[in-house]
Amino acid sequence: MPEALGIFGGTFDPVHFGHLRLAEEARQRLGLAAIRWIPAGDPRHRPAPQVTARHRLDMVKRAVAGNPAFEVDSAEVEADAPSYTVPTLERLRRELGGERPLLLLLGADAFAGLPTWHRWRELFGLAHIAVSHRPGYPIEAAALPAELADRYRAAHVADAADLAGRPGGGIVTFAMTQLAISATAIREQLQQGGSPRYLLPDAVIDYIAAHQLYRLP
Ligand code: ATP
Repeated sequence: MPEALGIFGGTFDPVHFGHLRLAEEARQRLGLAAIRWIPAGDPRHRPAPQVTARHRLDMVKRAVAGNPAFEVDSAEVEADAPSYTVPTLERLRRELGGERPLLLLLGADAFAGLPTWHRWRELFGLAHIAVSHRPGYPIEAAALPAELADRYRAAHVADAADLAGRPGGGIVTFAMTQLAISATAIREQLQQGGSPRYLLPDAVIDYIAAHQLYRLP
């Protein structure tokens, strides 16, 4: 069986240590060969990002530089079309074949919002879903929208090793170091002239300063 690959999409507006720990701990705990970061170009299921897709992509590249297990996929940023996860996974299947286990990494908040995503039911035919704990967002069937709760009960496996032998269709949860960091709070800090240090990598802070991002107009 080919090695499992983690797929980590997000707005990354900006990328921060919550994202980086999620990816690093997922890699270790779920036995992933690598993590492919996919910044969204034009995400349609949430408010428009505050800075351009190109800046968000460049910040992710700076944040992951030096980690040989992290790769960055710029296709959604370069596509002149809205970003949706199912077409992205279909593209990855064309590239990687149908057999490789793919694990879509989601924070618990993103997982609970899955039924608002374009063609969301098709996700399960394309990849597994690995849900990380996030402060303030319990992962329990009773707290999920009804159809997602049913899927969760049917597809949940306790041990990530059970996912390695098939390409997709399972759901696993994993505990990660709990970091109550959010891009929203970082943007608010920056707009108020506060310091975002130690919430995100210095290389990203330097990029934000050099390009004067997230300032009040
Ligand atoms: P925003 O505050 O703008 O909504 P965010 O910090 O949630 O942004 P996103 O780019 O929307 O960041 O998140 C990408 C993915 O990372 C999502 O699946 C989200 O649940 C997860 N994530 C983000 N921050 C954390 C965190 N601190 N702990 C665990 N997961 C996180």
